[in-house]
Amino acid sequence: MAVTAEGMIAVTPDRMIRVMNEEAAEMLGVARQDFVDTPLESLRVPELGQALDAALVEGAPVTWRFEYLGRDFACSAAPYLDGEACGAVLGLRDETEMMRVLRRSDAILSSAGDGLLVFDADERVAFVNPAAERLLGKDAETLIGQQCDPLSLLGLEPATEGVCDTGPQMRELRIEEPEHRIMDVRVDPVLDDQGVCAGAVVSLHDVTAEREAMQMKNEFVSTVSHELRTPLTSIKGYIDLILENEAGEINEIQREFLSIVKENSDRLVELINDMLDISRIESGRIVLKIQPLDVAERIEGAANTFRAVADQQGRSINVDVPDDLPRVAGDPDRVGQVLINFISNAIKYSPAGGDVDVSASAGDGFARIAIRDHGIGIAEEDQARLFTKFYRVDSTLTREIGGTGLGLSICKSIIELLGGQVGADSVAGEGSTFWFTLPMAAPELVRTPSLEAPLGSPGGRVLVVDESEEAANLIETYLAKRGYDVVKAFSAEEAWDRALETQPRVVTLDVMLDEGAGFELLKHLKADARTADIPVVVLSIICDEGKSSRLGATGYLEKPINKERLIEIVDGLVGSVASPVALVVDDDRAIVDVLSRTLKQRGFAVMAAYDGKEAMVAVQGTRPHIILLDLRMPVMDGYEVLGALKSDPETADIPVVIMSAYNFEADRADVLKLADVCTCKPFDVEEFVTSIEAVIHEEEG
Ligand code: ADP
Repeated sequence: MAVTAEGMIAVTPDRMIRVMNEEAAEMLGVARQDFVDTPLESLRVPELGQALDAALVEGAPVTWRFEYLGRDFACSAAPYLDGEACGAVLGLRDETEMMRVLRRSDAILSSAGDGLLVFDADERVAFVNPAAERLLGKDAETLIGQQCDPLSLLGLEPATEGVCDTGPQMRELRIEEPEHRIMDVRVDPVLDDQGVCAGAVVSLHDVTAEREAMQMKNEFVSTVSHELRTPLTSIKGYIDLILENEAGEINEIQREFLSIVKENSDRLVELINDMLDISRIESGRIVLKIQPLDVAERIEGAANTFRAVADQQGRSINVDVPDDLPRVAGDPDRVGQVLINFISNAIKYSPAGGDVDVSASAGDGFARIAIRDHGIGIAEEDQARLFTKFYRVDSTLTREIGGTGLGLSICKSIIELLGGQVGADSVAGEGSTFWFTLPMAAPELVRTPSLEAPLGSPGGRVLVVDESEEAANLIETYLAKRGYDVVKAFSAEEAWDRALETQPRVVTLDVMLDEGAGFELLKHLKADARTADIPVVVLSIICDEGKSSRLGATGYLEKPINKERLIEIVDGLVGSVASPVALVVDDDRAIVDVLSRTLKQRGFAVMAAYDGKEAMVAVQGTRPHIILLDLRMPVMDGYEVLGALKSDPETADIPVVIMSAYNFEADRADVLKLADVCTCKPFDVEEFVTSIEAVIHEEEG
């Protein structure tokens, strides 16, 4: 039977047992009456004597732990003064049970595969298990007792608040000593049964092998994709050319067969793009360009991609977005990609037809976008796994429809990277609603207006740098058809010579020239005054958008090349050097649209800004030759823009034409004196643009 009560033995200064209670006798397995008034030593438990001695030496209570008859005891000896000399009271506790629990939890903590460090409430290391010693290459002795924030002890940036206030904290720890390791560090609060913070426990999970395997896999995917994309670039490009009758008239059967080849090569490109997207997301190499986005505009853009197909099938894509929906923060291309994916699935998985409804609504700090179809739907048991990689519902219908099961998982990753969420509600046989959310744009987030080329080809010389002759020829065909004069180079040295010799308006550069020479060339071009101003578009199979833009590339395009995008980018860049650039600033989009169109027809490159802040960002990016400025605008009005432009020596001499529908504000009239021309709305657009041309010519003259 376990004894829980406290045993007590009182010992006189001459080491005689004066008192011993029943509990003490029972613990030591003796009869009490046999030992009272006998020397302590007669009990034959030497540890009792040692405890007594220690207490007498210390002159204060001490605790002595020992094992006796297979049980664990704690003896607390407290000295007392008896006349001139000291006796002591020995308290005796059977701690067998407690020690068993302690040893067991110690054994558990010690055998845990993850490293564990326990911190007291005063941030002192109290326990370190062997796995932590091994992982950190430090022994428990040096660590125990150290007082430090748990994260700083590991050399990580400490959290601003204690773990008990913030809840679990997660970080990644990379160390090179004693050997290269990557660990997931997790700090959890330790709360006592009253909920009071009693310290923290840090766990170290070694993920070196997983991360390395993941990196190898990503590299493998990149390499394989590269090897696949190179031939596909040629296959796709030349089929397109044949289908466009560039190789002579083709007959109907040839057209039909080639269309099948084209469709399948497009599918292959899509699959490779999906795989690359996944590897890019998983390895954190994805570059997001967060901007304020107009949800309606994004949805319209995505819906338009499918309008022709939908019309053919006699169904429609209905868009319903409230006019006053605030702008969201997101990467325009990526959000477009997600919308296209959801809309394409909605069409694909409703083979019997039915409309697709795309709607948006505002929630608390978020916009919610939903895509609803009336298709085959998804059974409840399949819904949970929809967004996992390669998952496809296992049904005859789905198999017939075909697909890879990658799209939804990419959408989920993109939306989560942008700070939103995705989900699906569906009833089998009735249809599905896929939805996602995006955070509203903060007022500080400003869109960078893009530069749009004049209508018609601006023409001029383009230097095409590509290791592969086939690829270079293909790009040449595209650009030559558009009216550009193409010079080709197949190595970095050749490209450098051609650039100096021919002074092209734009360079397209495949950075996969041998052994990184592509990036070196880009650096070189940007560093030399003779070539620094020539815009470079990087065409790449590996995804190096971030690196390219850091090195000074103005544009970036992935291979296999999308012809329209290539022309759009090159036109835009050449437009900005070959044509006068006009910046149109007005919060009324209809006015911006009509002015932009007319200006582009008249040979201007145009940037469109919808408020003053966007205008200021646009001017920083590309210096316009003229600015058309509205006065009343949200965020930053025309008066402020004018003031800011004219007070900065860099921008003071850009001519500004004020367009206003209102009587100019008398008290701010002095600001307006800084403008070059003031025009009252409404005005005749053609006449107005003619007067703009006059201003530009005057400047030139
Ligand atoms: P894929 O369409 O290439 O198979 P996705 O990742 O886009 O890949 O979709 C994964 C699976 O989710 C699909 O195979 C299909 O079973 C299901 N699914 C996706 N969208 C819908 C939808 N609108 N209606 C019904 N099922 C859908």
